[in-house]
Amino acid sequence: MFSPKNLRAFRRLLLRWYRHHERDLPWRKTRKPYAILVSEFMLQQTQVAAVVPYYNDWLRRFPDFAALAHASENEVLHAWQGLGYYARARNLRASAKLIQDRHGGIFPRQLDAMRELPGVGRYTANAIATFAFDQPVPIVEANTARVLARLFNINAPIDSATGRERLWSSAARLIPKRAAGVFNSALMDLGALVCRPQPRCAICPVKTFCRATNPETLPVKKPRTRTQHLIETHAFARKRKQILLERSSGRWRGMWILPPLKLDCFKQSRSSRGLIHTSIFPFTNHHVTLRVFAHRARKIDNRRQRWFEIGALDSIPIPSPHRRAISSLLQ
Ligand code: SF4
Repeated sequence: MFSPKNLRAFRRLLLRWYRHHERDLPWRKTRKPYAILVSEFMLQQTQVAAVVPYYNDWLRRFPDFAALAHASENEVLHAWQGLGYYARARNLRASAKLIQDRHGGIFPRQLDAMRELPGVGRYTANAIATFAFDQPVPIVEANTARVLARLFNINAPIDSATGRERLWSSAARLIPKRAAGVFNSALMDLGALVCRPQPRCAICPVKTFCRATNPETLPVKKPRTRTQHLIETHAFARKRKQILLERSSGRWRGMWILPPLKLDCFKQSRSSRGLIHTSIFPFTNHHVTLRVFAHRARKIDNRRQRWFEIGALDSIPIPSPHRRAISSLLQ
């Protein structure tokens, strides 16, 4: 399929198409490893359109590794608030600290050193290497995985070890030695704009190279694990202009949440006595029902709980489901 001559033709056609159809994304306008690292962390679990405003705000607030390394965890989680998957924010801050302490504030160029940073795996390291330093390394993310699975007619599930390795080796076969960053961006944009889940093969610039016999059925994924339903019970305690919050040590570690009700949760979750709020939110493969009960104005657990002025709630990190519950209860 890809003789050296074919490969050159494939790249030429893809890059010609890209010159006219490149997506206008803020992180494409820079070669700074810091800005690219931020964008890659944000994009790990979040759609491009949702990331753009966060990315711009983040760079205003923490313009470089030094600023991020010196920020408190509270400030960082607050700036990340609404993007979800907060481990990314903590890892980003930990990476900034490591770059300051171990690399003197200079982002390393070696893939091995990049992968020692918290939260930086194969994809993220390669993305920074190619977009910041133009290194000829492949990248496999949702868009390129879809394109590659179809181009090479890969029928193994792309979330299996075999499927993943086939994707990475196929991507490596396509990558040019020069201008690899532009090539990788072009392959991503082909996936985002043309080789979409519903492929637009009629307008595809590389369709003569595509081996997919039935593109709509690719890529194949392993059967999904069933969605689990959880009920979580929390307390709403208020005294005058203050409400009680608890610093989470679990899913939202470091953020402030309504205090969990630990005692007799099961009985309480089934009863509606004192129930003042119910909402549902998704979390990975869970559907969580958040049930909030009115509570007396006293602490339940002294170590982790604090009273906050209602007027100051905007300045502290609170995960979205709890912030929505608090807003609706305060109205
Ligand atoms: Fe994707 Fe269709 Fe192009 Fe193949 S021809 S790469 S399936 S859009």
